[in-house]
Formats: sequence, C-alpha cells, structure tokens
Amino acid sequence: MAYSHKIDNDKCKGCALCVTVCPKNVLEIAEQVNAKGYFPAYQARPEDCIHCTACCIMCPDLAITIKKTADEAAD
Ligand code: SF4
Ligand code: SF4
Repeated sequence: MAYSHKIDNDKCKGCALCVTVCPKNVLEIAEQVNAKGYFPAYQARPEDCIHCTACCIMCPDLAITIKKTADEAAD
C-alpha cells in the first residue's frame, strides 16, 4: 500500500517532537527558516519512512499529513 507523507512547512514551529519520536530517524530540522521564522522539520531520509504515523500524532500544530495514495489501480 502506498502512502504520502507531507510536512506543511509554514505550519511547523520547529519543536522537533516529530524528529524525536520517529523510529526510523527520517526527519531533521532544516537550516533555513520558514515564513514564521522557525526552523522547520523536513524528511531527510524519506525512503526510510514506514508511515507509522507517530510523527503525525505527535505534532502539536497538525503540520504533518499522511495519506493513502490512489496509485494501486493496476492490481
Ligand atoms: S510516519 Fe513514522 S517513520 Fe515516517 S517520518 Fe513519521 S514517525 Fe518517521
Ligand atoms: S512536531 Fe510538528 S511543529 Fe514540531 S517540528 Fe515536527 S512538524 Fe514541526
């Protein structure tokens, strides 16, 4: 099953809770500020993401979205 994982850069306040909770060490804090002046989280190693939703649940600002993608029609 395919999923997409998205961090809304401008909702993020750079608290790094998601970075801490990720069991696969996918996330890191960026070196450039977002529109609010925070250093946001980003997916440094997206290929390692297992879409466990831990980061999504943890984020106090609802900045992370995980969705099923509709690309399985070929089966
Ligand atoms: S969904 Fe899970 S594995 Fe993927 S970035 Fe979030 S916490 Fe890490
Ligand atoms: S938990 Fe949410 S607000 Fe905090 S760094 Fe991660 S995405 Fe940004």
